Amino acid sequence: MAETATVRPLPAGEVENWDYEADVVVVGFGIAGVCAAIEAAHSGADVLVLERTGGWGGAAAMSGGFIYLGGGTALQQKLGFEDTAENMEAFLTAALGPGVDKAKIHDYCHNSVEHFDWLVAHGVPFKEEFWGEPGYEPPADQGLMYSGGENAAPFKDLVPPAPRGHLAWTKDKKLGEKGGGYMLMEPLAAKADELGVRHEYDVRLRRLIVDDSGRVVGVAATRYGKPVQVRARRGVVLATGSFAYNHEMVLRFAPKIAGRPTATVEEHDGIGIQVAQALGADLAHMDATEVALVVDPQLVARGILVNGHGQRFVTEDTYAGRMGQAVLQDQDNKAYLVIDELALEEAMETQSSLSFLRVAPTWVAETVAELESDMGLPERTLQSTIDLYNHHAQQGSDPFLHKKSEWVKPIRTPLGAYDLRGYTGGFTLGGLRTDLDSRVLHVSGDPIPGLYAAGRVTSGICAGGYASGCSLGDGSFYGRRAGVSAAKQL
Ligand SMILES: Cc1cc2nc3c(=O)[nH]c(=O)nc-3n(C[C@H](O)[C@H](O)[C@H](O)COP(=O)(O)OP(=O)(O)OC[C@H]3O[C@@H](n4cnc5c(N)ncnc54)[C@H](O)[C@@H]3O)c2cc1C
Repeated sequence: MAETATVRPLPAGEVENWDYEADVVVVGFGIAGVCAAIEAAHSGADVLVLERTGGWGGAAAMSGGFIYLGGGTALQQKLGFEDTAENMEAFLTAALGPGVDKAKIHDYCHNSVEHFDWLVAHGVPFKEEFWGEPGYEPPADQGLMYSGGENAAPFKDLVPPAPRGHLAWTKDKKLGEKGGGYMLMEPLAAKADELGVRHEYDVRLRRLIVDDSGRVVGVAATRYGKPVQVRARRGVVLATGSFAYNHEMVLRFAPKIAGRPTATVEEHDGIGIQVAQALGADLAHMDATEVALVVDPQLVARGILVNGHGQRFVTEDTYAGRMGQAVLQDQDNKAYLVIDELALEEAMETQSSLSFLRVAPTWVAETVAELESDMGLPERTLQSTIDLYNHHAQQGSDPFLHKKSEWVKPIRTPLGAYDLRGYTGGFTLGGLRTDLDSRVLHVSGDPIPGLYAAGRVTSGICAGGYASGCSLGDGSFYGRRAGVSAAKQL
């Protein structure tokens, strides 16, 4: 078998020549990698980052840039929102479950204010402006928004809602090109450079190198197909991203998302998980996925979302990722958005970051019965749903799914519906099991000596549910921990 075709560890004794050496070797120059590199350098280590592509950034630089933070950050306070670490913890425990790593959630929430301050101190700017309308992202450069359904059922009555989606301020924002994620990464990459962090691009991790005691002491990589061996005197940090683009792994662990990777990059091929598995690393929540429903939330809040039986199943004013999960996981990936003409016109007048999704409905009709028939739904299914919805909507209430009264209005005619069957996509959230020091844990529960990891190569704070900002959030947070731990050889 060719040298590059195995993920089994390479014994250090077989290495004849080290091409590069550093105290801490970070693999992957996205959000987790850059934060690990900065903190390792702050801790006095000589740091080298290996990156498969031709530059820093990863998925992080292409992302919307939400970082999920709270507990009373300076930005929340400045914009008049009260929040506590306890409320944040209660919300995340409920929204990201079931089965969250409680110690991680507690740690993350109780150190969230400090993490926000760290980002600001390292050059990440946040604009002091709140965006309070439905959306995946703010339409412009606003710095704070609800990004997990905190102010919608079923969470709005759990703890007082607070917006926690923090966005790096972006000058000349361009969707998918230069968004909040770019403005998060740019100052952090500049800071790493300023701290003397070295980098080697076009270098692709293939295997880990271990000594006779089982300690990870380096990385076996390739550059343009040729072997490159890198020695890590203190530790290796894996920050290579998720397995969303490894079709075989997705089929095995998270099959519902198979064939529909979105909000990810092709470099997320699961290699970091596999090389650590080859050392006996434990895994967690490999079935967890972020799922987006590709539709403008400004439209959804003003209509009703129904399944293949014409029934409502999720409150339409919640976080769009929560709707996406409900559609893909519970409704066989079948959903329709039903909206009347007046509500549609109103939605089209609003601001949105997703104006390209503002297309005409798939079907339009003069009556509900006609629409139901055009959609191919069994007779009286959509009609009874709308009858019932309208009955309560006259009083502005939604006793079944508890949509907030500001969005509850009877659905009139003429009306239309969008065919959203199959309109979901997402990325994987599961990965290596790590402790609060970002040490990679062996299946025995002990840390694997010399091996640290953060970002989507690990299972972070999400176990099943998701809120926008959790990936950049736990990636940056536990990336920092990984850098410190590797530098100190914890
Ligand atoms: C359009 C879009 C919008 C998004 N919006 C948000 C958002 O608003 N909030 C949020 O929290 N998340 C968002 N995400 C998801 C988020 O960007 C990622 O989950 C996050 O960047 C993961 O961090 P990471 O450090 O694990 O991976 P990355 O940031 O992708 O970094 C991983 C790096 O490792 C490199 N790499 C991979 N394999 C190798 C190898 N073999 N050798 C060397 N290097 C390798 C990659 O090239 C990459 O540079 C979005 C993603 C996209 C694409």
